[in-house]
Amino acid sequence: MGERAVKNVLISGASIAGPALAFWLTRYGINTTVVEKSSSLRGGGYPIDIRGTALDAVERMGLYPQMRAAHVDSQSIAFVDEHGAVIAKIDPEAITGGVRGTDVEIRRGDIATILYAATKDKADYKFNDSIASLDEHADRVDVTFVSGDIGTYDIVIGADGLHSNTRSLIFGHESQFEKYIGFCFAGFTVPNTFGLDRGALAYTLPGKNAVVYATNDGGQVYAFLVFRYPTSPFRKSVAEEDKRKLTASMFEGVDGWIVPQLVEDMRKAEDLFFDAVSQIHMPTWSRRRIVLAGDATHATSFLSGQGSSIALVGAYILAGEIATKPDYSSAFEAYEKLMRPFAEMNQALVETGKSIMIPDTQQELEARNEMLRKMAEEPIGKIFRKDDARQVHRRQVHSALTLPDYS
Ligand SMILES: Cc1cc2nc3c(=O)[nH]c(=O)nc-3n(C[C@H](O)[C@H](O)[C@H](O)COP(=O)(O)OP(=O)(O)OC[C@H]3O[C@@H](n4cnc5c(N)ncnc54)[C@H](O)[C@@H]3O)c2cc1C
Repeated sequence: MGERAVKNVLISGASIAGPALAFWLTRYGINTTVVEKSSSLRGGGYPIDIRGTALDAVERMGLYPQMRAAHVDSQSIAFVDEHGAVIAKIDPEAITGGVRGTDVEIRRGDIATILYAATKDKADYKFNDSIASLDEHADRVDVTFVSGDIGTYDIVIGADGLHSNTRSLIFGHESQFEKYIGFCFAGFTVPNTFGLDRGALAYTLPGKNAVVYATNDGGQVYAFLVFRYPTSPFRKSVAEEDKRKLTASMFEGVDGWIVPQLVEDMRKAEDLFFDAVSQIHMPTWSRRRIVLAGDATHATSFLSGQGSSIALVGAYILAGEIATKPDYSSAFEAYEKLMRPFAEMNQALVETGKSIMIPDTQQELEARNEMLRKMAEEPIGKIFRKDDARQVHRRQVHSALTLPDYS
């Protein structure tokens, strides 16, 4: 039986890529269901940046003003020593290559909430459920959900993140595609007892970093502990308590700054987010009627600072290709052709992120601190220097793709 145009889509995952896809697919008149394993949309969380080509995607959605209204507007990152004394206080854009006044820095949960609010009346959201099995036929995919529900769709999009369920069901175990960057990340919220206002404080040791980050969240700030670890703990399943134990053990004996307090807070945190710092590299992004989007396809890791941005861009392109190509397979092909080089360029940004956030040795840490001291001599807000190849390169990569028009 031949292929038919796409009319009915199932998306797995309601974070950033999933609702952004739902936005565009429903706009093109395609019936869209989004299945999310959590019982509700997850709010709060760490701040992410939307910049470069992704700003164009958000503008085209008409959601830029709402996102900008939730802008965190960090003014500085202060790198401190073990006594809390400032080594260097710099403009965040000096590291990210971002554009002040235009980019959006927003909590991950806020962007998800904005995307969900814009789509909840048009797409069918199915919380507290997950795909149990996918049965592909020449003209459809039959889906059985964990709840026992069943559904039939023309295509299924896996937008279910780094540890994608859809990817595992179709392409096999994550370890085949995971590029472990060598670190683990534990993030959680703590009371803002630092008087921190629109900025971050970071204390770095070789292979470790402890950070608190103001997020415009009333009396709360976002804290994270990052540490080098030899193998990805997610090669096997990790119990919740073991994530806390592992993080605490990696900071044992670190008495500098407020690390002992942060470790205590992490042990008790109700919103602990623990993950490997990993990327996903796939030889192909689709198989027959199943296609991947966002982190499930091309996770970049937080050290690139670009995961959400490229998820938004990819959603625009995948939905646009599905709506305008005569069949799903040519749409998937065009999507991968356009997006893959952009995603891979952004994944490569991880190297500079790593050298600034978590230098490996004492010598590298001292060299980094020296570089930060020099940067700090620039007046805040005027840090972008055309002669700084690293900053120029990051900016070019953020905007390396021009969005096609699908209208
Ligand atoms: C600390 C940190 C800082 C970051 N900073 C930045 C930044 O500055 N800029 C930036 O652009 N990016 C940043 N990122 C990356 C960014 O968070 C991700 O790239 C982005 O969230 C990817 O969106 P996604 O929708 O593809 O996947 P995710 O946000 O991972 O969402 C996947 C969704 O799928 C759901 N799900 C999982 N399994 C199932 C299942 N079996 N069935 C149904 N649903 C399922 C999950 O519950 C979740 O809702 C950062 C990441 C981290 C961890």
